Amino acid sequence: HAKHMGRNTYCLYEPGMDAQLEKRRAIEGDLAEALERGQFDLHFQPRVSIATRRIVSYEALVRWHHPEKGMISPADFIPIAEQNGKIIAIGEWILREACRRARSELGGARVSVNVSPVQFRQRNFVEAVGAAIADTGIDPTMLELEITEGVLIDDDRRAHRLLSELKRLGVTIALDDFGTGYSSLGYLGRFPVDTIKIDRSFIRDMAKSDTAMTIVRTIAGLGNGLGMTIVAEGVETMDEARLLANIGCSEFQGYLLGRPVPVSAIPDIDHAAIAQTVEQCLAMPLEE
Ligand code: C2E
Ligand code: MG
Ligand code: MG
Ligand code: MG
Repeated sequence: HAKHMGRNTYCLYEPGMDAQLEKRRAIEGDLAEALERGQFDLHFQPRVSIATRRIVSYEALVRWHHPEKGMISPADFIPIAEQNGKIIAIGEWILREACRRARSELGGARVSVNVSPVQFRQRNFVEAVGAAIADTGIDPTMLELEITEGVLIDDDRRAHRLLSELKRLGVTIALDDFGTGYSSLGYLGRFPVDTIKIDRSFIRDMAKSDTAMTIVRTIAGLGNGLGMTIVAEGVETMDEARLLANIGCSEFQGYLLGRPVPVSAIPDIDHAAIAQTVEQCLAMPLEE
C-alpha cells in the first residue's frame, strides 16, 4: 500500500528528491504555527448502519487550510507531525474539537476520532482523553477512538492496559485500516476492541479478487463471532455495498453514502436518500 510504504521510506537516488525535501521543509515550517493560527478544521463523514439505514456516527477527519497552498491533505501532513511531535498538540485539539462539535453541530450523534500511534504511545494519553471528555461534557459512550493495529504490536501489554483504561472511561475502540498492518487475526480476541474497520484496499479489490473477498469474509466472520461491529470503509459502489452486506458487514462508510463534509453542511445531509440507497443495495440480486 503506497500510503503506508510512503511513511518513513526514503529512496536515496530518486530524481526530484530535492524538490520533495524542499516541499517537506516548507510544510514542516508552516505546520509549527498552523494550530495557533487556527488553520485546522474538521470534516465529518457519516457511517451508516445497514440494519437501520441510519447514520450511526460521524468520523472526524482533519483538514489544514494553508493560507497560500490551499487545503493540504492529512496524508501529507500527519506523517510529518508524527515525526516532529506536533501531532500531540494537534491531536489533542482534534479530540476536543470533535467532542465539542458532537454535542453541538452533530446534535449529540456519536463521533469517531482518529488517534495517531504517537499520541497513543504518549505517557498521559488516557488522562488527556479523560480531560477532553470532562471539559467538553460529551457522553463518553458517544465517543469512539480509532487506533491502528500497529499500536497493539508495539507493546502488547501496555496496549492492553491502556485500552482497558479507555474502556473504563466509557469510550469505544475501533481498529482502523484493519488488514493492512502486521497483526494476526488472533489479536482480535485478545484486546478489548468494539469495532473493526476493514481497509478500503480490500473493499476496492473485492469485486475482481477472490482473495480480497475471502479476506473480507473471514475478518467479518471472526469479528461477528466475537461480537464486534464490522465497518467497511471506502464503499463507493452499490455492488460493493451489496457484497459487503451479504458477507456480514454491519456498517458502511464511503462516498456512496456520503463524503466528508464541513460542519456547516451537516444540516443538508439527506437522511432519506441515504436510507433509500442502502435499501436499493440490499434489494439487488447477488451474482456469485
Ligand atoms: P482513515 O482514518 O482511514 O480515513 C478514511 C479516509 O478515506 C479519509 O481520507 C476519507 O476521506 C477517505 N474516504 C472515505 N470514503 C472514501 C471512499 O469511498 N473512497 C475513497 N477513495 N476515499 C474515501 P482523509 O480525510 O484524506 O484522511 C486520510 C487519513 O489521514 C485517514 O485515514 C487517517 O489515517 C488520517 N487522518 C485524517 N484525519 C485525522 C485525524 O484527525 N487524526 C489523525 N491522527 N489522523 C487523521
Ligand atoms: Mg479513520
Ligand atoms: Mg480507515
Ligand atoms: Mg484507510
